[in-house]
Amino acid sequence: ARLFGALERQPADALLGLIGLFRQDPRATKIDLGVGVYRDDAGETPVMQAIKAAEHRLAETQPTKAYLGAEGDARFVDLLAPIVFGAALAGDPGLTGVQTPGGTGALRLAAELVARGAGDPKVWIGTPTWPNHAPIFREAGVTVRPHPFFDAASGTVDFAAMASALAEAAPGDVVLLHGCCHNPTGAELDAAQWSALTALVVERGLIPLIDLAYQGLGRGLEDDASATRSMLAAAPEAIVAYSCDKNFGLYRDRVGALWVKADGGSLAAVRDNILVLARSLWSMPPDHGAATVREILEDATLTSSWRRELEEMRSRIAGLRAALADADARLAPLAHQGGMFAMLPLPRDAIFALRASHGIYMAESGRINIAGLRGETVASFVAAIAPYLQ
Ligand code: PLP
Repeated sequence: ARLFGALERQPADALLGLIGLFRQDPRATKIDLGVGVYRDDAGETPVMQAIKAAEHRLAETQPTKAYLGAEGDARFVDLLAPIVFGAALAGDPGLTGVQTPGGTGALRLAAELVARGAGDPKVWIGTPTWPNHAPIFREAGVTVRPHPFFDAASGTVDFAAMASALAEAAPGDVVLLHGCCHNPTGAELDAAQWSALTALVVERGLIPLIDLAYQGLGRGLEDDASATRSMLAAAPEAIVAYSCDKNFGLYRDRVGALWVKADGGSLAAVRDNILVLARSLWSMPPDHGAATVREILEDATLTSSWRRELEEMRSRIAGLRAALADADARLAPLAHQGGMFAMLPLPRDAIFALRASHGIYMAESGRINIAGLRGETVASFVAAIAPYLQ
């Protein structure tokens, strides 16, 4: 028998397929709301100015490209920690962190670590979620359990259903949470729900795994991290998978970090296992993007330039959310959500009709990347979807 004879064809990535369809559409008025990258009001995804400046500096001063260790750029991790955790938590000796190839790398490394965990830990994942979440855990051999999350009718979190499902989770199970800017729904827990969830997680002995991929693109750098910080302060064991690929606009350079909080007795072993796993997954993460972020965070001027540009991105998205919510009462929930994404209450056939009749490209789930809109296209976009909105 042939080694590869038993392999089955796999479905193509739907969003990447959408890019191709969009490119082929000759209409000048077409709108791409598919792939999840930030766009400015001209529809571009430019390299941030702070990144360009840091890259120049790096090109001139980087002394070597010799190997780093499996932990990647330790200084990058140290400088990023206060942004993620705040000054107080960042120095917590119970926290250990490494650089990873993007948020995806952080999640995969976390999944491998969970697979080595005591008992037979499962990971609980809300419905819907980023489509890569479940495969990442399954490929690492971790059983995935879905729990309710989104109430499409109100555009908010169905917290009662979520909490009652998680009350069934076994001690030692992992709960995967979006720290902010939920992908794909934009729906977020409010402060009271976060504290109820934190209490539930601690009471039941669950391990929060917080996926923080959009810090700074929702309500601001501090606010977007506050749920992560309070969860981490309360839970004796916790995991944070972080991406710099959106908030530094570094997508293809693959920049992320993984932090684990554990008690003093197991922290050294946690770090050993992280490093051994990273070594067999990718040996060491790619350097360039993380080194660029390090250059920015080492320099006060570059850091404030980065913060300013990130804030411009954030407020453009928030402005578009407000404009959509104002334009049609059925879009009102968008004003109370956060981040780049929203799930529009559209039936599936409307998604295809909008593609054919208006050149409006969105995922089949009804998810839109709000940053794909421009101030001037909001009105025509809402007029096009209005007949289909539920
Ligand atoms: N987590 C969520 C919720 C995401 O939406 C994404 C990217 O789309 C990631 C993680 C992974 O990001 P990265 O490109 O850094 O791997």
